[in-house]
Amino acid sequence: MSSSTAGHRIVIVGGGAGGLELATRLGRSLGKRGRAQVTLVDASLTHIWKPLLHEVAAGTLDSGEDALDYLSQAQRHHFRYQYGRMIGLDRERKAVRLAPFKDTEGREVVPERDLEYDTLVIAVGSVSNHFGTPGAAEHCLYLDDSAQAERFQQMLVKSFLRAQVQETAIDDSQLSVAIVGGGATGVELAAELRNAARKAVGYGLDRIDPETDLRLTVIEAADRVLPALSPGLSIKTRKQLDELGVKVMTGSKVTEVNEKGMLLESGDFIPAHMRVWSAGVKGPDWLSELGDLETNRSNQLVINEYLQTTADNDIYAIGDCASLVLPGHDAPLPPRAQTASQQASYLNKALGKRLRGQQPDAFTYKDYGSLISLSEDHAVGRLMGGLFGSLMLEGMLARGAYNMLYRKHLAAVHGLFRMLVLITLHGLFKRTRPRLKLH
Ligand SMILES: Cc1cc2nc3c(=O)[nH]c(=O)nc-3n(C[C@H](O)[C@H](O)[C@H](O)COP(=O)(O)OP(=O)(O)OC[C@H]3O[C@@H](n4cnc5c(N)ncnc54)[C@H](O)[C@@H]3O)c2cc1C
Repeated sequence: MSSSTAGHRIVIVGGGAGGLELATRLGRSLGKRGRAQVTLVDASLTHIWKPLLHEVAAGTLDSGEDALDYLSQAQRHHFRYQYGRMIGLDRERKAVRLAPFKDTEGREVVPERDLEYDTLVIAVGSVSNHFGTPGAAEHCLYLDDSAQAERFQQMLVKSFLRAQVQETAIDDSQLSVAIVGGGATGVELAAELRNAARKAVGYGLDRIDPETDLRLTVIEAADRVLPALSPGLSIKTRKQLDELGVKVMTGSKVTEVNEKGMLLESGDFIPAHMRVWSAGVKGPDWLSELGDLETNRSNQLVINEYLQTTADNDIYAIGDCASLVLPGHDAPLPPRAQTASQQASYLNKALGKRLRGQQPDAFTYKDYGSLISLSEDHAVGRLMGGLFGSLMLEGMLARGAYNMLYRKHLAAVHGLFRMLVLITLHGLFKRTRPRLKLH
């Protein structure tokens, strides 16, 4: 890489947990000093931190109020923003292909175009993997982005409103939600939905019994919820789900989905008005067709310990769309916000070094533990490292630690002072805003 760097173009595609933190950090470190031109491309105009999507889906978080505007973030942090969806890559010309943008009437607003780069970082996240289960694509809702979470929220509100005014009794299946996948997303969504139903009653939707009319089922193929985490955490989470009246079916594989519910391998049928797929993640399909970049079976870009794709040193990948097996390990790093964030932090320093003609150190990963939110004031989790070694947390304390994860993200994208102002304002406005989005 040349040491004359002022015109060096760094393009980051995907402004999520990893990409937005990276663009902001690079803007502050290289963009501000004119040492590189940093451009962030995202298929959306606003950013919502993905771990909050179950709250958007339940209506306990209003994405309209909590979203971050990419254009103003770019202006404040010395990077550029381009609205666009990446659809291809020309490695010879070092250019990313962006899809045309059309308005709601189908008229082209921005044509298909190329964006040239010297260094490219792909951070486009993941999508749910339904492993080709018949009917899952057509009949399930997903929590892959805020638009999908909002769609779920709209369906939920309409179901509540219908139940409130109907002349007949509320039947067993009309407010039933079946969630495939007992991982963090599935269990957090189930708990948040119970929380939302309780709040809905407080807003006058009092024909609904929030404990019994909203029937919540989590279906998990493994023999316990949170199979990727420690058995102790699974037991505590399961107990909490039982207390919330969530039916948990472990060791149950969904073989087919239709508009009425889920068929299990055992032959049982789980009727469900709303069906959510939250089992497994994979990279978007188009990643596996990106030139000759190496991908794994889950469409993730295979990267080395410097986060470079194996076929091209000038193309990096971070977060859920990347697969990194560190030396001495046999499994790739987990697709989690802390992985994406640590990789963004590393790459900020590594790209600065590379521009100065120095060789960066290899990336190292630190597991800080896992926290699972189970309601507004309850979470369970295990914190690792620091003074604690390994510490199991539960209740308000765990919830406080869970809230810190989001605050850390806010601090990375806004700076510490602004994060504290935002949190304070959020606390103040919480008293005046509705606690459930009902439109
Ligand atoms: C409900 C839920 C709860 C979760 N809870 C936790 C948790 O508690 N802790 C934890 O560590 N992890 C959690 N996760 C996982 C975590 O959200 C992800 O691991 C993390 O967001 C990955 O970050 P990323 O930057 O790789 O991708 P994302 O944050 O998903 O960002 C990807 C970005 O790329 C953009 N994009 C996608 N395709 C294109 C394209 N073609 N062109 C341009 N832009 C594109 C998207 O608009 C998005 O802004 C949760 C996930 C969900 C769904």
